[in-house]
Amino acid sequence: MCWCGARATHNARTVGGEMVVEGEQVVVGDVYQPVEEVGYEVLCRRHHRRWLTGAAAHAASISPDVLPVMPG
Ligand SMILES: [Zn+2]
Repeated sequence: MCWCGARATHNARTVGGEMVVEGEQVVVGDVYQPVEEVGYEVLCRRHHRRWLTGAAAHAASISPDVLPVMPG
């Protein structure tokens, strides 16, 4: 289930609760200490398209029905 309660159909990779682009390199490693938690979150289609993870939505205090317009 997506955080909004809709059926989750997409998998999002997240770093520190924020969705990152698939294939984008995340430095986790030998030299630098990882400072943010890398994980995965399942999202419904519309929230995946808007990169709105549960953490992001919570941080912005938005409801599932009020979606911000993302630039780009
Ligand atoms: Zn959703």
